[in-house]
Amino acid sequence: MKPYSSARDEFKGEAEVYLDANENPFPSSYNRYPDPLQKNVKAVLASTQNVQPENIFLGNGSDEAIDVLIRSFCEPNRDSILILEPTYGMYAVCANVNAVNIKSVALTPSFDIDLEATLNEIDSTTKIVFICSPNNPSGNLLNRDSILTLLNSFKGLVVVDEAYIDFSSSESFVTSLAMFPTLVVLQTFSKAWGLAGLRLGICYAAAEIIEILNKVKYPYNINSQTQYLALEAMANSEKKKLDVKQLIHERVKLEKKLAELPFVKFVFPSQANFLLVRVTNAAHVYNVLLQKGVIVRNRSSILHCENCIRITIGTPQENQRLLTTLKEI
Ligand SMILES: *Cc1c(COP(=O)(O)O)cnc(C)c1O
Repeated sequence: MKPYSSARDEFKGEAEVYLDANENPFPSSYNRYPDPLQKNVKAVLASTQNVQPENIFLGNGSDEAIDVLIRSFCEPNRDSILILEPTYGMYAVCANVNAVNIKSVALTPSFDIDLEATLNEIDSTTKIVFICSPNNPSGNLLNRDSILTLLNSFKGLVVVDEAYIDFSSSESFVTSLAMFPTLVVLQTFSKAWGLAGLRLGICYAAAEIIEILNKVKYPYNINSQTQYLALEAMANSEKKKLDVKQLIHERVKLEKKLAELPFVKFVFPSQANFLLVRVTNAAHVYNVLLQKGVIVRNRSSILHCENCIRITIGTPQENQRLLTTLKEI
C-alpha cells in the first residue's frame, strides 16, 4: 500500500520559504503543519529507552495505536484478536468497530494468565494477543514467563500494554524488543506523565511493524502543541519521578487503611495507580461515595470483579477524604 505523501514527507530539510503545503504564511503559533513523524519527540524517547526512532510510533493516545494495530494487521470479518479478561475495554471496542472478531480467555481469579487456556484459544485467524500488564482493572503484573512463552510460540503480534509500568517494580518489555520481532509495547503520557489531556501514546516495535503503522495513520496525527509539550515534559522528567514516588507511597498507605475497614473483604495487590477493592456491597459503597462527591468506578459487572470498586490514587487530601467518607459507612 502506498501511504499519503504530504508536503512535509516530500521535502524534509530546512528552507527559508515554504510554498508547498497551502498553509497561511502569516505567522501565528500554528500556521504550519506539524512534523508528521514527530522526530524530535522520538529522538528523546529513543535515547531514554535505548531503542531507535524507527522503533517508535506515536498515536493520539495509545488508543489510536490500538486501533491502527488492529486495522493494519487484521482482515475484517475474517481475523481475530485475543484478549485476556477482565481487561482494558478499548481492545474489544476497536476490534468491534473494525469488524474484527474477538476471542476471549479468562484470567485466573487472581488475575494472572491461564497459559494453557490462552495457547488453546489461538487459531489460524488470531493475529494479535493483547496483554495488559499491569492489568486494568486488577492492577497486577501478569506473569513474565507466560508472556515470554507466548512470544516464543505464537506467530502473530503480542501487544504488551504498559500504561501503568511506571508505578510497578517490573522492568519494561521495551528492553526485550530486539529479541522478539513480534513484540509490541504500548506506553502513554496519560498516567504517570500526568498528560491525559494531551492525547499522546507510544508504541514500540520492530522497524518493519512501525513502518506499516506509519502508512495507515493519518499524516498529521500528533499536533504541534502536543509535540512541544511532550518535549517540555520530558525535559523536566523530575516532576514525573516525584509524582510517581508520591503516588506509590499513597497507594501503599491507602491499601493498608482500606484493608482495616470492616466492609472491605480484600484489597488486590496493585502495581498501578489504582486499587481494586472487594467489599460486601459495592453498589452501596459506590452510592455513599457518590452522595459525598467522591467518584470511584464500580466494576462489579465484569468477570472476577463481583462487588469490586476501582479506586484511583488521588492527592493525599483526596485519599484522606475518601477514607473519612468510607469510615461513615
Ligand atoms: C489508561 C490506559 C491507556 C491509556 O490510553 P491513552 O489513549 O494513551 O490515554 C491505555 N491502556 C490502558 C490499559 C489504560 O488503562
